[in-house]
Amino acid sequence: MTPTRKPDRFPCPGCSGDMAFDPQTGGMKCPFCGRTEALPATPAKGDTRLQPHSLDEFLAKGDGAPLGSLSAQSLEVSCSGCGAVVVFDPPQVAGNCSFCGANLVAQPKAADPLVAPDGVLPAKVPKETAQAEVRQWLQTRWFAPNALKRMARQEGISGVYLPFWDYDSDTVSRYTGQRGQHYWETETYTEDDGRGGRVQRTRQVQRTAWYPAAGEVSRQFEDVLIAASKSIPEPRLDALEPWDLESTCPYEPAYLAGFKAQRYQVELPGGFDKAKQVMGNVIEQDVRRDIGGDEQIISSIDTQFSNNMFRHLLLPVWIGAYRFQGRVFQVVVNARTGEVQGERPFSAVKITLLVMVILAIVALIVYLGKN
Ligand SMILES: [Zn+2]
Ligand SMILES: [Zn+2]
Repeated sequence: MTPTRKPDRFPCPGCSGDMAFDPQTGGMKCPFCGRTEALPATPAKGDTRLQPHSLDEFLAKGDGAPLGSLSAQSLEVSCSGCGAVVVFDPPQVAGNCSFCGANLVAQPKAADPLVAPDGVLPAKVPKETAQAEVRQWLQTRWFAPNALKRMARQEGISGVYLPFWDYDSDTVSRYTGQRGQHYWETETYTEDDGRGGRVQRTRQVQRTAWYPAAGEVSRQFEDVLIAASKSIPEPRLDALEPWDLESTCPYEPAYLAGFKAQRYQVELPGGFDKAKQVMGNVIEQDVRRDIGGDEQIISSIDTQFSNNMFRHLLLPVWIGAYRFQGRVFQVVVNARTGEVQGERPFSAVKITLLVMVILAIVALIVYLGKN
């Protein structure tokens, strides 16, 4: 008999407590009685490329966009401290803001519709492992204030799915520019002959001849990944890469049980503008290669982006945000790889102490050297 279940709630067949997604097994686990259940419909690896949506259609339709929600009963709350909006399913509670540590004072409300996620990379690193990684990371930060380390240990980390846009595009780029060809030329010059006279000599000089160049390059871009979260500084997000996108699963609310998800802060068109910049850098390299020669000058590139597609993906992190002496200290763990990224706060006292110790050693060496 299959257990009846309310939509998007996952009562334990053993004790009817709410089950949560378990990163270790990739299935559901009951936090009360420990019972585990496999998740249905986890696709075989390899054939999981998710069907994308047409970006062109989406943009043309405007309001008619395919909106949905993360689950039938999801709630959301916005942080007055940093503006992040997190979506979660009861019985999960909002708690403190995962991104800035602020107390969430607003009442959670029914989640507004959004571009529903197409795919999710399920968390794979269990919380205990991530917590241990963070502890170790903190230990190697000798300069971090002790009080902060203690706080990070106590308050721990929470699991959050971050929003990303994933774009495909077929590009054709016409370009104009110049190809520089190096050649050597013999140059005549005069110098002192050392006996008060002048002498004429020659030397080889490298010169560049420029020829006009024009042409066309094309490329099919797949999986141009753009973060739709502004709550984590971009360099830190980039440092969390790589993401094994080939393991992305079709979105299921079950993956979010026990986790929160952040609502995207970068809209689809804005994300595509960023994707165009990323693609533009690759296209520029293509154009340089196409021009050839020893040097290239690019005067213009005119790119047509067609067949533009997108997917909305949720990627998992463990994150802790701590407010310490008026500052926010963030530490993020890639919940697929266990990679830790965070700020390196410094304790002024510890640095002063270290400087004093070094000065004392130097003084001692000088003193010993004199005797
Ligand atoms: Zn149970
Ligand atoms: Zn916040």
